[in-house]
Amino acid sequence: MIKAIIFDLDNCLSAADEPGSALLEPVFDAIRQANRGTLPDEALETALADCWYHAMDFVAKKHGFSDEMLAAGWGMISQIRVTTPMRGYGDLPILVELRGDPFPMLFLVTSGFRQLQDSKVKALSIEQPFEQWFTEIHIDAIDEPSRTSKQAIFQTILNTHRLSPAEVMVVGDNPDSELAAGDRLGIATVQTLRPGVEKSDLATHHIQTLGELKALIER
Ligand SMILES: [Mg+2]
Repeated sequence: MIKAIIFDLDNCLSAADEPGSALLEPVFDAIRQANRGTLPDEALETALADCWYHAMDFVAKKHGFSDEMLAAGWGMISQIRVTTPMRGYGDLPILVELRGDPFPMLFLVTSGFRQLQDSKVKALSIEQPFEQWFTEIHIDAIDEPSRTSKQAIFQTILNTHRLSPAEVMVVGDNPDSELAAGDRLGIATVQTLRPGVEKSDLATHHIQTLGELKALIER
C-alpha cells in the first residue's frame, strides 16, 4: 500500500518556465558576460537552456562553466523571485483526489534557490494555499550551507513518518535528482514526461499526466 507520494516541483507540477522565459534572462546575461570565450556561443546557449531543467551547480559542472560564470549566475539567480500568479500544469487539481485520509500523504521536495522556490510555492497558491495540499514542503536549498540533499530529505520523511520504501512513491522529471535519490533508497519512481522532459530508463514508471498516478497507486 502506498502511504506517501513525494513530488518534485519544476517540470513535474509546474513548468519551470511558466512565469515566462524572461524570468532567468538576467541570470543568462550575467553568465554570458562572464563567459569570455570559455564556451563557444552555441555550447553556452545549450548550457543555459539546461538551466530550466537542472540546478545551476549541476549545469555548471556538466557544461564546464568557469568559476566566474558560476559565480555570476549564482549571484543573480539568488535574487530572482516569481511575483506573478502561477497555475501549474492543468492536471494539478488531481493532487486533491490523490491525497487520502490518512493515506496517501503528499510531500513536496524541491531543489533550487531558497527565495525562488519559496516564491513559486506562494505563486501557486491562488485558488487554495498550495501548502494545504501537502503534509510537508521541503526546499533543498542549494544556496544554503546547511543544505543536505534530496536523498537525505527523503530519508528523513521515511524516518519521521515510519514509512518503508515500499510504501512510498517518488514523482518527478529528473533522473539526476529525485529519480536517482528515490532509486538509491529503493523507492519506486515515476517520471513525469512533461513537455521538454527526456524519457529516462531509470524510472520505474512513466506518466504523461497526474491522472495516471491513481492507477499506479491502486495497483
Ligand atoms: Mg524537476
